[in-house]
Amino acid sequence: MFEDLQKKIRNISNFPKPGIEFKDITTLLKDGAAFHKVIDILAAEFAKDKIDYVVAIESRGYLLGAPLAYKLGAGLVVARKPGKLPSEVERVEYALEYGTDALEMHKDAIEKGKRVLVIDDLLATGGTVKAACDLVEKLGGKIVATAFLIELLALKGCKLLPSSAKNYSMFKYE
Ligand code: AMP
Repeated sequence: MFEDLQKKIRNISNFPKPGIEFKDITTLLKDGAAFHKVIDILAAEFAKDKIDYVVAIESRGYLLGAPLAYKLGAGLVVARKPGKLPSEVERVEYALEYGTDALEMHKDAIEKGKRVLVIDDLLATGGTVKAACDLVEKLGGKIVATAFLIELLALKGCKLLPSSAKNYSMFKYE
């Protein structure tokens, strides 16, 4: 499905380090028609889910989350790398291949019971999106959906996605 759109994603071998095949979405985003179509497809997918907030993960998640929130008429909330948000934050740490990283959200970003869609560009091992979902739940939000442009199936990140949510990825790679 959507093969023409998928062809716009560029594969870069051995970036940012040997053995990684980087999925470069800049080549899709710079094509106005393709960008438009991707956001329209995402918006149609979640049009009936009564999303209150789109939570976008720094940084490529913002590129999709902002236009999606606008199109859904939802609010946009950012999950940021540590030290960037100015007010009081909640933080969740998560494991990387080497070491740990963390995401932060403003403590007052999401009111109890609000319906949330979490979005990032790509699902790999799932650690990043799990941290974002844990943050939303700490703040009292309800994860209704997760969305990705790309899912790397071999890394089985889907195992870390909330099972009660609608989990959507547009392009899947073996
Ligand atoms: P993970 O936490 O393992 O699911 O990794 C997902 C995050 O890392 C996303 O924010 C992606 O932007 C980035 N990422 C991981 N692997 C790739 C890849 N092969 N190409 C592009 N981005 C990637």
